[in-house]
Amino acid sequence: MVEQSKNKPVTKEQITENLAKLGNTPYSAESIEIDMDENIFIPRSVLNEARRMAVTALNDARTLAPIYKKKNDIDIFNVNDTKEISYSCMIENISQYEIVKDYDFCRIYINDYKLYSELNDNKRVYYAVDSVHPRGNFDDERLLIGSTGSLLNAKYNVTNSDYFLNARNSYSLMSLYNTGIDWVTISPETTVEQIGKITDGYNTRYGKYPNIEYIVYGRIQLMVTKHCAIGEPVCNKCKSADYALEDIKGNIYPIRTDEKCCNHIYSDIMDK
Ligand SMILES: [Zn+2]
Repeated sequence: MVEQSKNKPVTKEQITENLAKLGNTPYSAESIEIDMDENIFIPRSVLNEARRMAVTALNDARTLAPIYKKKNDIDIFNVNDTKEISYSCMIENISQYEIVKDYDFCRIYINDYKLYSELNDNKRVYYAVDSVHPRGNFDDERLLIGSTGSLLNAKYNVTNSDYFLNARNSYSLMSLYNTGIDWVTISPETTVEQIGKITDGYNTRYGKYPNIEYIVYGRIQLMVTKHCAIGEPVCNKCKSADYALEDIKGNIYPIRTDEKCCNHIYSDIMDK
């Protein structure tokens, strides 16, 4: 596309000026080096196209670059070679454990630390970290992490991130892996079709399939509040019976209260 100039050769300044026009991109040119022959002419459209191609190549290089980091400075972050999704469950008591332990769940989450400690010889048992009152620093445990404040534990433990962290695309998956998270629990709002798109997108971007899982048993927790809906601030009344919230359509949202009177509000999957 470079031609011999008939009367007005292009100057280095003109080329530089054109290539530096990066106004609608996130980039700016720090320096531009030009190696050119004398007495040449380059149509403006060709220079524009060259600049656009360079910006596209730079965008691709930035989005496709895997940023795998070392975990504990020993293990390299482990990614999947297959498209498999693993399935896990969330339980609250020993009788539920007695049932689910015989099924093929990859992980069994328990939100009671004492019960987790009793059962943690089973390598599939994980402690679901309390996001309102985290127990501080964990070391060499298996954890389900549901709040950004607890992500610091990801480096020193075997960890899964909970659906509260709302991983819905390949970028959010990678940013969680980069904190040291091993497996990511996909948001329960995600459909099977969407999961397919996320894993394919991840594969396009990073050349691997992500470690993702789906919780298939257990009531979905919608929110936790320090404020006890039954009494306050610490009422103990809430332990004496089963309580629930009811909305104007008659949907029932069960409340589980913990030892600190925090209210864990669950999804409405019961008929009235
Ligand atoms: Zn209470």
